[in-house]
Amino acid sequence: MRFDSAEHPAILGGIPVRPSGPPSWPQQDSRVTLALQSLIETGDWGRYHGPHVPELCRQLAEYHEREHVLPCSSGTAAVELALRGVGIKADDEVILAGYDFKANFQNILCVGALPVLVDLDPLTWQLNPERIVPAISSRTRAILISHLHGGLVDAVTVKNIAETHGLMVIEDICQNPGARCDGRQVGTSGDVSVLSFGGSKLLTAGRGGAVLTNRTDVAERMKRYQQRGNEAYPLAEMQAAVLRPQLEQLDKFNQVRRDAVSRLERGLAGVGGLSMLQPPAEKVFPAYYKVGFRYDSECFGGLTRERFIAAVHAEGIALDAGFRGLHRIHATRRFRAADDLTEASLADTGMLTLHHPVLLENPAAIDEIVVAIEKISHWGGEIQRQSEHQGKKTPS
Ligand SMILES: *Cc1c(COP(=O)(O)O)cnc(C)c1O
Repeated sequence: MRFDSAEHPAILGGIPVRPSGPPSWPQQDSRVTLALQSLIETGDWGRYHGPHVPELCRQLAEYHEREHVLPCSSGTAAVELALRGVGIKADDEVILAGYDFKANFQNILCVGALPVLVDLDPLTWQLNPERIVPAISSRTRAILISHLHGGLVDAVTVKNIAETHGLMVIEDICQNPGARCDGRQVGTSGDVSVLSFGGSKLLTAGRGGAVLTNRTDVAERMKRYQQRGNEAYPLAEMQAAVLRPQLEQLDKFNQVRRDAVSRLERGLAGVGGLSMLQPPAEKVFPAYYKVGFRYDSECFGGLTRERFIAAVHAEGIALDAGFRGLHRIHATRRFRAADDLTEASLADTGMLTLHHPVLLENPAAIDEIVVAIEKISHWGGEIQRQSEHQGKKTPS
């Protein structure tokens, strides 16, 4: 597919580039179908205890080279367990980026601690390790890092800082299971890492999560906390059974997604206005749950990010705003801002994220995204004028 400047964008009445809209998730997978059939035949679908949860944990431990894996009910529960596991208590402080998954902030509050927000790296829009040391106080106990939107936090540097200051590192790898960097699996630099098996994630069971660690003390504390005669945050046999074949194919699909992202990056470089947070590079093998971009309104004729998103949606593409900056959505008494959070504020208004399912489709689907963005780039000024005009016509 090629861009034709005579074609109107769908938001102005043209034909959408992808009339069928974004692909759904999860994709059809014959191995998952087999796993589900076998659950029915064996009756494992309805058992408290069966072979699948222990086997999944064994596979996850081996894959990440971690000794202990605690399965649980969600990534959010996993972060809470990790915080409790590293011993976070009331009035402790936990450092995290000013731009992060909202539940991470709330989990810190949930264990009675105070979130301390630090800014992002201006280049990658991931937590900036340089901001950590000035944020440390006598109450600081841990650093929570999330690798977001296909980017990677410099976890090795974070871990070195943490060791110098006697802090624990929790790594949120919910968005990048299977990513590798400098020959090492992402999620193995910190003391604990957490996975999500939520319905949109790369490894999905609709719900679920896991905590990984090499530290026996941390694993024991987490187990004791969630063991109440029964597990308080359980992962079901049914969930584990569908996750096992997905884990086995994770490397393969991550590579397909990386190739698609490389193609997308090449295509978008010619358009301008969307720059990727972290394209695949030498020794860096990201996993893409979302592909993060910074949006430059100037390159789209002054089109606001919100109107740009509406225009891309109209073309049938799942490109959305990123998270809100945590300092922008929480009362100031809930956290301590360790610095000016300039980049977190920019990410709050300028981040765009492409949802992953399209990356497994085919090269033509990637080219369609490029054509849609080109079309919107060409018509950006006009789309903005028309939406402002409509805004004025709407009675207040
Ligand atoms: C999805 C996600 C989680 C956990 O989500 P659950 O829906 O609770 O499984 C945590 N952190 C990040 C960065 C995520 O994207």
